[in-house]
Amino acid sequence: MSSRTLNLDDPLYDYVLAHSLREHPAQTALRAATRAHPRAGMQISPEQGQFMALLVRLIGARQTLEVGVFTGYSALSVALALPPDGRVLACDISDEFTRIGRPYWQDAGVAGKIDLKLGAAEATLRAELEAGQAGRFDFAFIDADKSAYDAYYELCLLLVRPGGLIAIDNVLWGGSVAHAAPPDDHDTRALQALNTKLHSDARIDLSLLPIGDGLTLARRR
Ligand code: CA
Repeated sequence: MSSRTLNLDDPLYDYVLAHSLREHPAQTALRAATRAHPRAGMQISPEQGQFMALLVRLIGARQTLEVGVFTGYSALSVALALPPDGRVLACDISDEFTRIGRPYWQDAGVAGKIDLKLGAAEATLRAELEAGQAGRFDFAFIDADKSAYDAYYELCLLLVRPGGLIAIDNVLWGGSVAHAAPPDDHDTRALQALNTKLHSDARIDLSLLPIGDGLTLARRR
């Protein structure tokens, strides 16, 4: 028994997947298509995708945001969990990466739920605010350039409703956040600053989960 989170060795991780993972065939195929990509490590783990899908169902989300799509596994996971009239407003700057995922969104029958906006996410989110969409979203997933996380967080906090949920990926950053970072390590320093800020942020309820590379859940009060 353990009173803290277990470290997962390979047999235990395989056990978790074998006894929990329920992927749509398009999800399995998209993971396989991403595996050979030089930046495949940017893809969320399948158990994280399934967990986020469960969260989306738990809160009855219809309108969701994603900042950082990569090849589209997380958007696919969320879209599959949304009702037929649900939407993922998916922000990314890369046509090259997102192009890999789009056929799998089609195969899963959810392409119509995913509204891909290619361009700077901050501009896309600001445009949503200017269009009167503050408080209209139920869920947001932030998984993009770490130095801009704080800006994404503040914009998402305006865009999600009270009771809505913001999930922030890579908050443990391979464990590096627990150690002093050199001044030029902007990603680690940005994550450390955000983790510290959120700990005492009275606008949210908070949980930092040791799933994947660290996933913070922030529920807007
Ligand atoms: Ca990530």
